[in-house]
Formats: sequence, structure tokens, C-alpha cells
Amino acid sequence: MGILDKVKSLLPKRKPPELKNNVPQEKENIRKTFGKFCNANHGTTDGKLCAKCTAVLSTVLIKINRCPYGIGKPICEQCETPCFGENFTKDFLAIMKGGQKKMLFSHPVMTIKHKMASLGAEYAKIQRDKKTSDKQKEDAERVKAKFANATRSPKTKSKKRRKK
Ligand SMILES: [Zn+2]
Repeated sequence: MGILDKVKSLLPKRKPPELKNNVPQEKENIRKTFGKFCNANHGTTDGKLCAKCTAVLSTVLIKINRCPYGIGKPICEQCETPCFGENFTKDFLAIMKGGQKKMLFSHPVMTIKHKMASLGAEYAKIQRDKKTSDKQKEDAERVKAKFANATRSPKTKSKKRRKK
């Protein structure tokens, strides 16, 4: 083992970012929100769902299990690449929006947690966008500096020449 490897092995290893599995909680929230919405709008009771809401919900739950983002997924309402299909996505968003107001009264803690998750996803997105714009700025500065160096040297030379 070389010295470099030894030094490397002594350095603290960078911790992988912690991933919390919020998927079961999100599913539970979606299920309950669907129940609230359907009971209020489609004449069903006891959190049971009508045929249409059942179809939307089962599609959503299947798709969540196959989510390409894994357990680190953003909540479905915030997803930039919704995978439910155009119509199911539209239905899903309408049901979640409509059911959430009722959820706040019957399951306030769950609703607030869900809201926090959506804010978290937004925050991560802002941070990511900021990072890329910072990098772009850095790149622009680097190019500028290079350009300035390239133009400066012949100028100073020509000044010297004139003095002579
Ligand atoms: Zn329904």
C-alpha cells in the first residue's frame, strides 16, 4: 500500500446523504386524501372509493412502487415527470387538491407533514437550480479571466515598446 493510499484511508469518509423512506407515509396520505375527496364528492362513505377513484388510486400506487426516483422520490404532486399518464395525473392532482382541505381537519399532523415534504422538494429544487447557476457564473468568470489575460499581455508589450 502506498503512502497516498494510507493517507486516504485515514481521512474521514464522506457520509452518503441520508435517505429517509417517506414512501409508505406518502401512500397513506394519498389513500386517506382520496377517501376524503370521494366521500365528499362522489356519494361514498367511510373512506371507501367509487369505481373511478379506485382506478386512479390503484394506478397511482402501482406507479409509486415503480418510481424511478426510488425512496428519495419527490412527492407525486411535485414531480416534474409524472408517470401516471396525462388523464390520471390530472385526476390525481384534482383529487389531492380537493381532499387536502378536508384532510387538514381530520388528520392535521399528517397533512402538515405532507406539506413539509412538498416544501422540502421545492427547497431541494431551488438549491439545485442555484447550484447550476453558480456553476455557470463561475464558468463565465473563468472565460472572462482567460480572455482578459490573453488581451492584456500584448497591450503591455506594446506600451513598453512605445516607451523605448
Ligand atoms: Zn370517487
